[in-house]
Amino acid sequence: MIPESPVPESSAPGPAPFVEVAFPIPVDQAFTYRLPPDRTAAVGCRVEAPLGRRKAVGWVVALSRDAPSVDPGSIKTILRVLDPEPLFGSRTLELAAWLAGMYLCSRGEALSAMLPTARREPSDASAPFEDYPPVDEALVLSPEQEAALKAILGRKSGRTYLYGTTGSGKTEVFLQAAEATLREGRGVLYLVPEIALTRQVVEAVSRRFGDRCAVLHSGLSPSRRLSEWRRILSGKADVVVGARSAVFAPVSNLGLVVIDEEHEGSYKSGSSPRYHARQVAMKRCSDEEARLVLGSATPSAEAWNLMSEGTLARRDLTRRLAGGAPPAVEVVDMRGEEGALSRRLAGELARVKSEGGQSILFLNRRGFSYFFRCRSCGAEIRCRHCSVGLTYHKDRNRLLCHYCGYSEAPPRACPECGSLDVGWAGFGTERVEEELAAKFPGLSSARLDADTAARKGELDRILDSFREGRIDVLLGTQMVAKGLNFPGVKLVGIVLADTTLNLPDFRAAERTFSLVVQVAGRAGRFSPDGRVILQTFRPESPTMRFAAAQDVEGFYETELAARRDLGFPPFSRIIRVVFRSRKADRAWEGARAFADAAARTLPPDAEILGPAECPIASMAGTYRLHVVLRAPTMGGLHRSVSGLVRDFVPPPDCRLETDVDPVSLL
Ligand code: ADP
Ligand code: ZN
Ligand code: ZN
Repeated sequence: MIPESPVPESSAPGPAPFVEVAFPIPVDQAFTYRLPPDRTAAVGCRVEAPLGRRKAVGWVVALSRDAPSVDPGSIKTILRVLDPEPLFGSRTLELAAWLAGMYLCSRGEALSAMLPTARREPSDASAPFEDYPPVDEALVLSPEQEAALKAILGRKSGRTYLYGTTGSGKTEVFLQAAEATLREGRGVLYLVPEIALTRQVVEAVSRRFGDRCAVLHSGLSPSRRLSEWRRILSGKADVVVGARSAVFAPVSNLGLVVIDEEHEGSYKSGSSPRYHARQVAMKRCSDEEARLVLGSATPSAEAWNLMSEGTLARRDLTRRLAGGAPPAVEVVDMRGEEGALSRRLAGELARVKSEGGQSILFLNRRGFSYFFRCRSCGAEIRCRHCSVGLTYHKDRNRLLCHYCGYSEAPPRACPECGSLDVGWAGFGTERVEEELAAKFPGLSSARLDADTAARKGELDRILDSFREGRIDVLLGTQMVAKGLNFPGVKLVGIVLADTTLNLPDFRAAERTFSLVVQVAGRAGRFSPDGRVILQTFRPESPTMRFAAAQDVEGFYETELAARRDLGFPPFSRIIRVVFRSRKADRAWEGARAFADAAARTLPPDAEILGPAECPIASMAGTYRLHVVLRAPTMGGLHRSVSGLVRDFVPPPDCRLETDVDPVSLL
């Protein structure tokens, strides 16, 4: 096995001639390459290498002196070494292996989700950072905040939940916990949701810590991201603030991870590997003996359950330190109303406008714009097998269950009250805009959603003109909930809270509840005379009642009991497998074959739901089906699904994606 080229003998000292490279492809294997004679590369560097018939960029994950035992002539040579210095070390490599195992992907895919992907170094290595503002002074804590801080700092590691309404001063406690951790000589990770409007928190962190702070979020250019990453690696920055993927930042001697707005869905990755930053943070904190602090006004059901069990220490902040109280939430019954704006909401919009105030209207784009219900009693049609709402498919005129695949013709009369006034209704953005324009010709409005935010400068332009009073009504999706810091806003209307409640997803009630409470909490901040109007077809539903009363304890008690009865998380664990194909029959073929294989290998306490069409059954011309696998605990389920996924050969043109602990089943 002597290599033919003039590389040093395997026993000779000097740089290793072979490298093992992991690529971001769904093949869980590292490939061996030869380094060009004059080049060296360390573990943690990116390299470009021939892979099949193309070139690909991958990560060096190991070095070796000895030629592998395969035919040495077949070993290809690295084309380029892209990094002069490694971007990660053994800790990141171990975390990548854990991530790959947990979320059923290859180590290369895990690394590519974890690391910055810029192709080149910034042209100027000492690229100017924005000037860091002068360091802010800490505030004097209230007794409640002081007690919370003590509890957090009491141990070197451990988990604490800061539960408190918006404005109760959680941020200040997080900041002071971070300061104390830095004084111990340990580093800090401060995670915020991926929302354009969390800028205020990011700024507060960088103001407090000046140039020791690195910022990582999706808005950064790849080269800026890479240079921030290098500042963290070198230890120049030991406080990192950022969105989801910042949880992988190579902070050395990690002492604290903060997860602000812990309930936010954006902590879960929307593409493979579909990791949850909270889960990764828990893993890092236990491996690296760091403290984990989570906070929200509306904790996730998982976190609430851990707190009730006593495995997550809870600290309450009960007082709003900057004054203001959450405004009362007025519930408007939409049964018997025409259109999307009730008489009550329309009347209030007019009144606020006449008094020179501004309004915000919330819409929910993630909800379905079409759903089927009784206009007399508000009843919606549920699946007789799964007890989730059926979705109306206008094109086929069928009601469909997106968990089990059951379908039925829409009823002519309401099964609850017998009324013949049943049908579908539209509450989409366009519909509301049209209605607003027709009812209030003199009113100026603007729309703020993910599409707007994606256009550069557009978000700031709209927010500025709204703040300056040049827009009367701002129409927005959930993302506005974070940015509701507008003193001129007197009215917040939730156009149809049911859009999230009707989602065919077991988290629908939780999402609806937390949205309403977050909106109300924000709205009360600046206008004590402000009000929130919540429109719903189901004013009597417990979710609406608890949300309107902002009764967090009551909601979780009811919701967790329901989850326990129906066997949904946190009382079970789910792995979802999605099959995608341009051809519907290929997707069905794949999904059925997988479900059959699962039936043979899953542990006896596991259940297989489906195959069924995903609630969003097609996306850009691709059919989507899913099989939902559920078991009381993850262990056996995960082991057997992991084997199934590894061995499963999907039909041609059919792709399979796995989601461990999905937060959405859409
Ligand atoms: P939360 O993070 O819980 O939503 P914030 O951090 O936004 O709350 O705090 C709300 C307001 O209270 C902020 O304007 C903050 O400056 C102020 N605040 C927080 N702690 C104190 C304190 N100890 N003394 C005075 N003001 C405080
Ligand atoms: Zn009815
Ligand atoms: Zn069903």
